Amino acid sequence: MDIIHLLPDSVANQIAAGEVIQRPASCLKELVENSLDAGATRIQVIVRDAGRTLLQVIDDGSGMSETDARMAFERHATSKIAKAQDLFALRTMGFRGEALASICAVAQVEVMTRRKEDEIGTLLEIHGSEVIRQEPCQCPVGTNFKVKNLFYNVPVRRKFLKTDQTELRNLLTEFYHIVLVYPKVQFTFVHNDEIILELPTGTEKQRIEAVFGKSGGKSYTGQFVDVATDTELVSIRGFIGKPEAATKNAQQYFFVNGRYMRHPYFHKAVMTAYSGMLAGETNPSYFIYFDVAPETIDVNIHPTKTEIKFQDEQMIFQILMAAVRESLGKFNLTPSLDFNREGEIEMPTGPTDNVAKPHVVFDPNYNPFTRSAKPSTQGWEKLYIPASGNTNSGYANSGYAGVPARGMMSEDQQPPQLFETPVSELTPYIYNKYLLLPTTAGLMLVHYRRAHVKVLYEQYLKQMSAGKGVSQQLLFPEVIDLSPDDMVLLESIIDELRIVGFDLDQFSKTAYSISGIPALLNAQDAQTALQNILHAVRETGASATGHWRKQIALSLAKDTAIPYTKTLTAEEAKHLLDQLFVLPDYRLTPDGKTICALLSDADLARKFA
Ligand code: ADP
Ligand code: MG
Repeated sequence: MDIIHLLPDSVANQIAAGEVIQRPASCLKELVENSLDAGATRIQVIVRDAGRTLLQVIDDGSGMSETDARMAFERHATSKIAKAQDLFALRTMGFRGEALASICAVAQVEVMTRRKEDEIGTLLEIHGSEVIRQEPCQCPVGTNFKVKNLFYNVPVRRKFLKTDQTELRNLLTEFYHIVLVYPKVQFTFVHNDEIILELPTGTEKQRIEAVFGKSGGKSYTGQFVDVATDTELVSIRGFIGKPEAATKNAQQYFFVNGRYMRHPYFHKAVMTAYSGMLAGETNPSYFIYFDVAPETIDVNIHPTKTEIKFQDEQMIFQILMAAVRESLGKFNLTPSLDFNREGEIEMPTGPTDNVAKPHVVFDPNYNPFTRSAKPSTQGWEKLYIPASGNTNSGYANSGYAGVPARGMMSEDQQPPQLFETPVSELTPYIYNKYLLLPTTAGLMLVHYRRAHVKVLYEQYLKQMSAGKGVSQQLLFPEVIDLSPDDMVLLESIIDELRIVGFDLDQFSKTAYSISGIPALLNAQDAQTALQNILHAVRETGASATGHWRKQIALSLAKDTAIPYTKTLTAEEAKHLLDQLFVLPDYRLTPDGKTICALLSDADLARKFA
């Protein structure tokens, strides 16, 4: 019996419109979801040139009859819904019947398919919606779908594709979203003849380990605790990262009824449950699976179907937050903090800063001064050797004085000259994390860690554009294990990383060895710094080299800048200011934080009124 029928227009129109195929990753998603809908137990994905020239999905699912194979490419042809009501009780992935029609319109498609009840299969070739050939063929049960030369007839689309590395990462991201909810299905992902992921069947936890676990390293899922709760409204299961395992580069996934979803509101519920437990700038990883009655969610509000509306979002928020809290409490997870990065022990800056951090337990063994005994001290010294020819760059003649200091100083104040004495003769007073300087316009406060971040940021940028940086060799090379998408990401920024001093070599399919690092970095911070860079670059999502560079420079600057728990010597402070004030925009860090603030004479007068 043929099972595909055309949707009536009325139903078709109720279906969220939208471009289905924007890039290879969206094509992959549609094909793999079809395979799952067809009941496949084994799915192979074969990709060439990040999906540009070939995207192939082979499954052992139900296959299609000869007629269905032909019908499948008609718009709104689907075997999955017939009536509008069905839209609200959806359990299958695809339901719009437009994916294949869209794909075959913009690519050269070849499909071989056979049902188990048929002796012989069907081969169908369609180029740009035009059927080139349809004939019987010998093939195994299931469907073998080849999409060749995506966008071959849409040059504009082709032009919008990013670099191969970016598109490959997009493919992997889409792949993760699917494989993490189908641990019972076996998956393989091959790119340019190399097996990137091979995922046997198992439990959800084993699947997570198989995707994100590092070769030979300690167990990835060992850093998670279970979360589970069952209510009338929703059942929640999953794994949440221990607070101390939180990193910048966290994996955070929600799934509902077997489908990946983004849900910023529920994310907030999780983060609220963790509040006070995380070291600044780190995030917990989580994999949380929701199960709800299908009629209580609307999966149809967004064409790419990752945003999902729940009927009782507030209730679920509460249930989720309580469940996460309970798990964190039950496993008695005591957080400890690490002070290397800014933001962790920020002093309250005023009455507005009333974020409660009641549960923080400080690590009693942490000694901020141990850092100063490490190699970074050398680097620190090095930084302050004034550049040749620039030894006399006092602030007064550095161009600093003429720069209108909007934003930090009161608007009407554009002091012709802020300092009465040349800077080299000034000795800043060091108070807390600030340097205090008298100026003609009042008292200037300089946040010295931020100043250092700024100075280093500019240095790294300069190194990258000049093509040379300073490296220190590691006595013992380190190996950093990476997930497949991070491997791809690292590869795409490796030139920049080498310039700033990372000496990196591919060590295995899932690891790089680090034998040299930027001169200012502590050896024991090498891996974290690299992870932080990957995270920063990933976050921007940009493919423009210029943008990467900024992210790399900033991330590295933050990891090599002096921690404000270290006390500066007067000499260091002077050198720092010397370097800061020659920069064109010395008042703000690259991420927009205030470096210099001025307490004007008027401000002071008011205090003593
Ligand atoms: P939808 O998935 O929304 O129904 P598609 O355009 O993705 O729409 O697919 C159209 C139809 O083609 C599906 O309803 C299904 O019957 C059939 N089909 C597509 N891919 C496969 C596959 N891998 N195995 C079996 N049938 C498939
Ligand atoms: Mg589909």
